[in-house]
Amino acid sequence: MSLNASPPLHRRALDALLTTDPVQRMRLSQAGLAMLLMSAGVVAMHYFVFVGIAASAPVWWWTAASLGGMLVFFCLIRAGWSRRLRDPSLTLPQMLYAISSGVVAYALVGEGRGSVFPIVMVIIAFGLFQLRPRAVSAVGFYAVALFGAAMALMAWLRPDVYQPRVELGHFLMIATMMPAMSMLASRFSSVRERLRRQKSDLAHAVARIQELATRDELTGLPNRRHMLDLMEQEHRRCVRSGHTFCLAVIDVDHFKQINDRQGHAAGDEVLRTLAREMQTVRRLSDVLSRWGGEEFVLMLSDSRAPLARGGVERLRERVAQLRFEPDLPGLQVTVSAGLAEHHAGESVAQTLARADQALYEAKAQGRNRVVVA
Ligand code: GH3
Ligand code: MG
Ligand code: MG
Repeated sequence: MSLNASPPLHRRALDALLTTDPVQRMRLSQAGLAMLLMSAGVVAMHYFVFVGIAASAPVWWWTAASLGGMLVFFCLIRAGWSRRLRDPSLTLPQMLYAISSGVVAYALVGEGRGSVFPIVMVIIAFGLFQLRPRAVSAVGFYAVALFGAAMALMAWLRPDVYQPRVELGHFLMIATMMPAMSMLASRFSSVRERLRRQKSDLAHAVARIQELATRDELTGLPNRRHMLDLMEQEHRRCVRSGHTFCLAVIDVDHFKQINDRQGHAAGDEVLRTLAREMQTVRRLSDVLSRWGGEEFVLMLSDSRAPLARGGVERLRERVAQLRFEPDLPGLQVTVSAGLAEHHAGESVAQTLARADQALYEAKAQGRNRVVVA
């Protein structure tokens, strides 16, 4: 199978119609769904024409205006025109238009008008998921007012079909349902808000846990566990590419004395400073981690020992030049390092063990030096 095989035809057609931008796609599918709902209303209206309850010509005009209007909304969104508005999904205008169309349908279908109510309820239900409770109340008020006017007008024009006492009953029904819808809307809105908050809290917690799991708290460097993962990754990469990497174990010389003479807090401060300074001289592609206590491990990716040695020497020199004035006057710190190049077929632990052995030799040879395994 070819890797760049084009997607199936229906997928490409949907992409062309709804675009590939997920947000635009959501808006357009919503407008498409509204159009589908409108089509169901159209079918119902034509049924009433078919059985002789409604007149054909006005229903055809109504059909053209209703479907045409929804199509215009779809096109405004599809063309990107609605992006300049505060609500680019055009939810509110679409709802108001659909309700107006429902009111006209109510006036057109006479005895069949009862079927308009459930459709209007579904239109308002759309708003429950999208709009603020206040907007839902406004839509509800608009629906009650418009339906009230249509009911009064039709009861006056055609009292034989739209009997005033029946219309009053209809009016009372929708007028009491709308506040209930508004209440539901505020319930939905608070649930939505709670979900949004929980989601953001969770994202923060995950980020924090990730930070705690991978960073050393004192120095901010990658911790031992994270470094083990990074070394395994580098190992796998090298096995695939045939390149190699080096590991250096870096240990502070006579660190115990610093603790003993200046106090543990000063020792901590020295570790923080060393970490920061060594970070500034390492190569960007190398990783420095706090291995534990006063030991650091540096991974030099894609390097052989002679080149890596230069990198570790730079770190050692930088540390030797450091002064801790005025907090720790006269203090000078040095580090010793053992460096090992990873050999083909060797595990990370084995390379690390050789680096550790080299560190031992660096200490034995008098410290403040780098020994290559
Ligand atoms: P050497 O040159 O042989 O490495 O001597 P050293 O004194 O550095 O080695 P040793 O292992 O005897 O002492 C390490 C000291 O590091 C002992 C321990 O109390 C101290 N240490 C370990 N972790 C921390 C830390 O997080 N903060 C501070 N302040 N001290 C620490
Ligand atoms: Mg040590
Ligand atoms: Mg030490």
